[in-house]
Amino acid sequence: MDHFLYRGGILHAEDVPLTEIAAAVGTPFYCYSTATLTRHFQLFQDALAGMDHLVCFAIKSLSNQAVLRTLGKLGAGMDVVSGGEYRRAQAAGVPGDRIVFSGVGKTRDEMAYALTHGIRQFNVESAEELRVLADVASCLGKTAPITLRVNPDVDAKTHEKIATGRKEDKFGVPIASARAIYAEAATLPGIEVVGIDVHIGSQLTDLAPFEAAFTKIADLTRELRADGHVIRRLDLGGGLGIPYTRSNETPPLPTEYGAMIRRVLGDLDVEIEIEPGRLIAGNAGILVASVIYLKQGEGRDFLILDAAMNDLIRPAMYGAHHDIIPVIEAQTASDQRPVDIVGPVCESGDTFARQRAMPPLAPGELVAFRSAGAYGAVMSSEYNTRPMIPEILVHEDQYAVIRPRPSFDDMINRDTVPPWL
Ligand SMILES: *Cc1c(COP(=O)(O)O)cnc(C)c1O
Repeated sequence: MDHFLYRGGILHAEDVPLTEIAAAVGTPFYCYSTATLTRHFQLFQDALAGMDHLVCFAIKSLSNQAVLRTLGKLGAGMDVVSGGEYRRAQAAGVPGDRIVFSGVGKTRDEMAYALTHGIRQFNVESAEELRVLADVASCLGKTAPITLRVNPDVDAKTHEKIATGRKEDKFGVPIASARAIYAEAATLPGIEVVGIDVHIGSQLTDLAPFEAAFTKIADLTRELRADGHVIRRLDLGGGLGIPYTRSNETPPLPTEYGAMIRRVLGDLDVEIEIEPGRLIAGNAGILVASVIYLKQGEGRDFLILDAAMNDLIRPAMYGAHHDIIPVIEAQTASDQRPVDIVGPVCESGDTFARQRAMPPLAPGELVAFRSAGAYGAVMSSEYNTRPMIPEILVHEDQYAVIRPRPSFDDMINRDTVPPWL
């Protein structure tokens, strides 16, 4: 459920008509709903209620400061995958003991920064990284709390580019090598083992791969404890999928996910961490664009928008589907016609949808891409020297620009010209 609904024939974000925001800031823009972000975070809190747990928002899905502050104030932890994301969490007021550091290529500088400013744990992804972390921590006179990210070799049955838990994927260490690496970890200076980490992929629409992975983690917990390690925390990653179409998708709900976690891991006496990104942010954001042209082609018509692949890359990158709806509600369903919905970028890949049934739309009219909150703004670029589009946060009847659109001068003046020119 989200808070983008038609009222009196106009699509609203909570209590604000999107036409009002469009008139004030221009299109295209991203718009997020505080109530939806809050609701989704709370669903996970409720799903794990009664278990010792921390819900860490995966910053990479949506990293605007205003969003991080909204979630941080509710008690969320943050899952970061770079020194930059660590600083974002810090700037949003999230204390180090609620920040977990994931990622397959952490550098010495990133490790040192996090150790100096406070960290809940590093999710270590290889024996090589473990040794470097031990070195960095001991040089600083610090102790690095760690989990080892294990790769359980389960197929998340999701898109190729977002599956991470098969043995051919670059993430984590094979579960069969885990005991040996934990044994090494126990001998290293500056390292404190606190638990195990797993993250098998994104946009999972079935609980079975999660359950298969978590069952392996439960077994590994018992083995490692028998080996004498302290395993008091399990980080289960993110990955729960969301419905991208209104009609036929019904991914599992956070309550069902939580019940499964309780069933599989509930008797281990561990603290549970989860790292949802998409489920919190995805349906809490939309992208609003204007029609520039309706171009009549041979055998097909093109709806050309002012938003493009540089603003929202998911359709080009993953073949992802986004529902695209008019901001002014269509009067009847009967006059819909199939159109290709495209952006102005000079790439054929700049296509959002092919032969999508749409109501008649004239130049200047507004459309909204649903489910664009996660992996939308964060993956945008300035390709074709198109300014990064503004981000807006709505809270009941108020809205604020939480990232302004840069001017062309801002963009051009970021380049510097060498003295010989
Ligand atoms: C991307 C990622 C997440 C978030 O995944 P979602 O599918 O957005 O929930 C969580 N943990 C790690 C380690 C990730 O890389």
